[in-house]
Amino acid sequence: MILTVTMNPSVDISYPLEKFNLDTVNRVVKVSKTPGGKGLNVTRVLKQLNDEVVATGFIGGALGTDIQKKLLKKGIKNDFFEISGETRNCIAILHEGNQTEILEKGPTITKSESDNFLEHFEKLVKSKEIKIIAISGSLPDGLEINYYSKMIGICEKYKKSVVLDCSGKALLEVLKNEYKPKVIKPNTEELSQLIGKDVSKNPDELKKVLKDKLFEKIEWIIVSLGADGAFAKHNDKFYKVNVPNIKVVNPVGSGDSTVAGITSAIHENASDEDLLRKANVLGMLNAMEKLTGFVNLENYDKLFNEVEILEI
Ligand code: ADP
Repeated sequence: MILTVTMNPSVDISYPLEKFNLDTVNRVVKVSKTPGGKGLNVTRVLKQLNDEVVATGFIGGALGTDIQKKLLKKGIKNDFFEISGETRNCIAILHEGNQTEILEKGPTITKSESDNFLEHFEKLVKSKEIKIIAISGSLPDGLEINYYSKMIGICEKYKKSVVLDCSGKALLEVLKNEYKPKVIKPNTEELSQLIGKDVSKNPDELKKVLKDKLFEKIEWIIVSLGADGAFAKHNDKFYKVNVPNIKVVNPVGSGDSTVAGITSAIHENASDEDLLRKANVLGMLNAMEKLTGFVNLENYDKLFNEVEILEI
């Protein structure tokens, strides 16, 4: 079974408007409200793949209850840790081909909640059923910047692998710490942020960057490159992944679908080549749909065969 972690989930509200009128009333007819946050996108894709998955993280208030109910309705197991703060709303206004987002920061975690979650997390991680943990997204306020390192330390104690998809200071802190995730999946923007200078999509440059001491002891580094596929390092091996042209509808959440593919492939002990194919195909399938964290698996096999993996 796979454990997914979403530390700052949300109820994602989508407001489609023909025209967005500033400084006056906008009436919305077709509202959708879905559980959101990067880890929950990963969870949904894993569920669609028929992988056994359970979701955890912090949850609070009426919106937290709503998320739990909606997940259960979709048959998604969850074991969240309840906090005193309120789970947030994130609003996307879709208008005239634009997407204007209003993202609440979310609750602040208290010291005792922060300590008690680690106990809750350890109980889940040590369960025999859990084979791998996928941690995604940013840390809510109130948690120390090395919180993910502490969580990875717990996973290491029980010899469980971690796929980590976060960015900025939280990721940098993990890379500097002794406990390492098995996989990280930055895009070039996140990679540039990490090393403090612009990184292009050029494979030679990426090869050089990934040899940096900062990435030592990370078994897999998979840099997703949008329409250019991905560049990956697995121990001493380097791969360039080329993907076919697709009709992109909404690429938001493609990185999360890629993370679902990576986690699922490791869970089933796939070869390097199959892991990279699965990860990229799921990223592409998400980009071809309107919904975030949703894939139409009818096209899976065709795309799987069209992906090109080059060891370089
Ligand atoms: P993130 O959302 O983290 O920035 P990417 O945009 O790199 O991630 O997308 C993740 C994966 O999804 C890519 O590695 C690729 O396989 C696939 N993908 C995303 N956008 C496209 C696209 N326009 N064409 C083909 N594949 C895409």
